[in-house]
Amino acid sequence: MITKLITEKDGEKGLDEAARLLKDGELVAIPTETVYGLAANALDGNAVKNIFVAKGRPQDNPLIVHIAEIDEILPLVKNFDERARALAEAYWPGPLTMILPKSDIIPTEVCAGLDTVAIRMPSHPIAHEIIKKCGFPLAAPSANTSGKPSPTTAAHVMNDMDGKIAAVVDGGSSVGVESTVVTLACPVPRVLRPGGVTPDQLRAVLGEVEIDKAVFKALESGEKVLSPGMKYKHYSPNAHVIIVKGDFDKFASLVAEPRSERTCAVCFDGEEDKISVPAYPYGHADSPEEQARELFDVLRHVDDEKMELAFVRFPSLDGVGMAVYNRLLRAAGFEVIEL
Ligand code: AMP
Ligand code: MG
Repeated sequence: MITKLITEKDGEKGLDEAARLLKDGELVAIPTETVYGLAANALDGNAVKNIFVAKGRPQDNPLIVHIAEIDEILPLVKNFDERARALAEAYWPGPLTMILPKSDIIPTEVCAGLDTVAIRMPSHPIAHEIIKKCGFPLAAPSANTSGKPSPTTAAHVMNDMDGKIAAVVDGGSSVGVESTVVTLACPVPRVLRPGGVTPDQLRAVLGEVEIDKAVFKALESGEKVLSPGMKYKHYSPNAHVIIVKGDFDKFASLVAEPRSERTCAVCFDGEEDKISVPAYPYGHADSPEEQARELFDVLRHVDDEKMELAFVRFPSLDGVGMAVYNRLLRAAGFEVIEL
């Protein structure tokens, strides 16, 4: 299959073509404000099945359904309760995914057999436009090969999906980490995956909110998990990744110890010149937003440079920093050194 790249210069016609392909049951990668999504008609189980094939995604990992207007959620869930409406009004469109009991029109492929469905309204104008033109919701996980870092540019998507999907719509680079996933299908709302909307922002609307323990901890084998995606090693480059907690001088000494030539450092802006191995910065030390935006790009770069070992500076944990740390922990298989 030839994967068509639709760019800004294709204008409105390009978006019409993306919608036509989706109506035909094809897969199209679309930009969102979090990461690129691999979209299919969420109401067509056969189209959705192909997402799992293209990504090599485990069958038991459910997908997020994307809508363009708040009321489009009504036919998709059993009960759009007051808590859900309050959250939607506060943070949609934006990087927040809600899990609610599903209605019967959601095919089992979308929710991997669960009785709940994950829904989000993206703010990216191109995503919004394409959903509008389709007239149906789009199921769209991140547009990477399963297990690899999520794509934040059309080039990343092409690297993973060329020849496997009908088209990629280039919408520039996106802001970084995936959406916050919060489940409302339990008495106390619970964050299953941290993202752009922080726990404090959720608490401002919902009151009490719990953080699932799988956010910062590896699961014991056989342990039951609310969010299937949390089970898998995720977001990882081929290189062995180790997170290092401690001040800069200790970090610089650690990475300078003699070992494989293919060792690198993932550091903060301005530190590159003081490190004796190749060093790739992922934002300023005190900017979780920059770290979120640059993390996946840097992890892909580590592989482009064929590095075997990457020591990564410990991120800031404020605001969206919790999401950055959650993704890094998975990239590192939970390996953290404290100096
Ligand atoms: P992705 O779209 O690849 O960024 O992944 C979507 C995330 O949402 C994964 O971690 C899924 O496990 C999670 N998710 C989607 N639907 C549900 C659901 N119904 N219940 C729990 N987690 C879900
Ligand atoms: Mg993903």
